[in-house]
Amino acid sequence: MISIKGLTKSFDSLEVLKGIDLEVGKGKVVVVIGPSGSGKTTFLRCVNILETPTDGKISIGEQEIDFSRKVSSRQISSFRRLTGMVFQSYNLFPHMTAIENVMEGPVTVKKEAKQKAAEKAEYFLSKVGLADKMKHYPFQLSGGQQQRVGIARALAMEPQVMLFDEPTSALDPELVGEVLKVMKDLATEGMTMMVVTHEMRFAEEAADEVIFMADGLIIERGKPEEIFSQPKAERTRQFLRLIQ
Ligand code: ATP
Repeated sequence: MISIKGLTKSFDSLEVLKGIDLEVGKGKVVVVIGPSGSGKTTFLRCVNILETPTDGKISIGEQEIDFSRKVSSRQISSFRRLTGMVFQSYNLFPHMTAIENVMEGPVTVKKEAKQKAAEKAEYFLSKVGLADKMKHYPFQLSGGQQQRVGIARALAMEPQVMLFDEPTSALDPELVGEVLKVMKDLATEGMTMMVVTHEMRFAEEAADEVIFMADGLIIERGKPEEIFSQPKAERTRQFLRLIQ
């Protein structure tokens, strides 16, 4: 489903990603963990091409982009539609209701008819448990509810892969569970997901594979139980000791 080969990214002289190779099968959930500054966010942003990789290849389904060559903006926008991204800071439009936020992408980017987009938005908002909040503005919603609108908004574009960048980090602790539940439900339904998170419980319960990143490289990968109870690399052990 996703295949990443030799992915690098530099910001001027700072090499943040130093050659990442990763395959993610259809319907699989990969959780990316690692110390601050190791390049996790940059990695996800490269998969969504919010950052243009310096080199390497990414393919999702049938589509491939080779960053060793010149890439057109048309190629980028068509590739970007394959992934839906959920950010730490929900990034909702403050002047739009929940349903308008969810309809925005399908109407403006995919040129869907408003009626159809509204029906779909209702479906996805119900799916994330917000059937009764469709007409609410972001300021009338809790952080957890806003993040669930963020998830519905990404789903409404019907991506092949969902990318989550620390989706619960900005939330009060009592609101984290409701967002993780929506994510777990998506995983159970077979959505292909890449998730950067500090929520190790989520990784244990929902991940097919955990990737440990440090200094712009994948140091170790394996099933959650392998990474958490029998990490092979000293770097992984060190990190897990610090967060436990
Ligand atoms: P955290 O867990 O703290 O979010 P991270 O593992 O997600 O960290 P990144 O946010 O990907 O790490 O950052 C990796 C490195 O890249 C950091 O040194 C950061 O300062 C640098 N970096 C990220 N974005 C940019 C940018 N747009 N311009 C310059 N440097 C950047």
